[in-house]
Amino acid sequence: MASKRQIFVGRVPVGGGAPVVVQTMTKTETANIEATMDQIEKVAEAGSDVVRVAVPRDQDAKALKEIVKRSPIPVIADIHFNHTLALKAIEAGAACVRLNPGNIGGREKVAEVAELANRHKVPMRIGVNSGSLPRHLHELEETSPVEALVEAALEFVRLMESLDFTNFKVSIKSTNVPNTIAANRLLSEKIPYPIHLGITEAGTKWSGSLKSAVGLGALLADGIGDTLRVSLSTFHAEEEVKVAWEILKALQLRERGPVLIACPTCGRLQFDMDSVVAEVEKRLEAYEEPIEVAVLGCAVNGIGEAKHADFGIAGAKDEGVVFAHGRALKKVPTARLVDTLFEQIDLSLARGGEVEFDETESAEGEAWVQKIEMENEGDLTPEKIARMEKEAAEKGESDRVLLDEEQSPTAGRRFTRT
Ligand code: SF4
Repeated sequence: MASKRQIFVGRVPVGGGAPVVVQTMTKTETANIEATMDQIEKVAEAGSDVVRVAVPRDQDAKALKEIVKRSPIPVIADIHFNHTLALKAIEAGAACVRLNPGNIGGREKVAEVAELANRHKVPMRIGVNSGSLPRHLHELEETSPVEALVEAALEFVRLMESLDFTNFKVSIKSTNVPNTIAANRLLSEKIPYPIHLGITEAGTKWSGSLKSAVGLGALLADGIGDTLRVSLSTFHAEEEVKVAWEILKALQLRERGPVLIACPTCGRLQFDMDSVVAEVEKRLEAYEEPIEVAVLGCAVNGIGEAKHADFGIAGAKDEGVVFAHGRALKKVPTARLVDTLFEQIDLSLARGGEVEFDETESAEGEAWVQKIEMENEGDLTPEKIARMEKEAAEKGESDRVLLDEEQSPTAGRRFTRT
């Protein structure tokens, strides 16, 4: 369940039903103000709502003052071991402090930070990592790592509450995806505070993105998690932000920019779709509007399977069609497909989202699609079978199309129709 409580990291609400907040962490030396600002600008542009910077030394805490002033998004200070750095970060204007109450030097020091944070109305992120559980939970960790993680988090929650500090969010992180999912599910039932999601040391752009999509996606789909960071082993923090957005967009939790859909290609593919999809994806980065754009590798199935898309292209060897909302806009040479697609998108956006169809060009496009469909009439693609099943079901004939061996042979498969 979404958290009951809400906190504010600067102007950004976290929890209590607010949109799930995207965050990342800079990978520069924080004291290198120009390099850090450069990265912050990039992640803000990519859609990070807040950004975290590491503050391991005095010079980083000093740099924080200027970074906070110049940053277009709220800055969170990431502190480990040294509570005086947490105090300095709050004085420097950090919008939030992330610390692990278990490694900051005992209750007195946590209390000192909590007292100053309360005075400055600065929230904290408190949390545990599977790699740094308190010693007294090691035995429990052996038998039940999930319970150990949750118990450690609850101990910190109780500690902060006993210090009269409730302006916090909580994180439980592990490199183990099933444990992260199970621990956060359990935690969400036990506390009203916002939950920060992440998979520790997820990995490279490829494997880390997948692990994050699986782990964080499962939780977010259940309504658990109020902010997330995708951790990837890349210096380009903006890549983490892009992946986080793809997860949120896939779950329809937030909208940002275009959504690209592309067929997986198959043996019917007739043009170099790999490079076309890559080009469309790249060019779509310049758009902020939540338009859906489809790229189909052929028109064998017509454009029906992408008719919900705002715009799309379907290609063949020499020619292709640009379409909008399931209707052909125009037929163009394959080499002009992408340029024409973007011309049409721009025209429509300039008209406030309206699409104007030139009747002659549209009819030419429709005729071309029909020709391709007819040329491949006997070709029973999965999409065609699905369409036939739907049409039959709508007519009330049957919810399954009865196919004979001539139409769709089963020789070579593991079943027969007789
Ligand atoms: S049949 Fe479907 S998957 Fe295959 S190339 Fe055409 S659109 Fe793509």
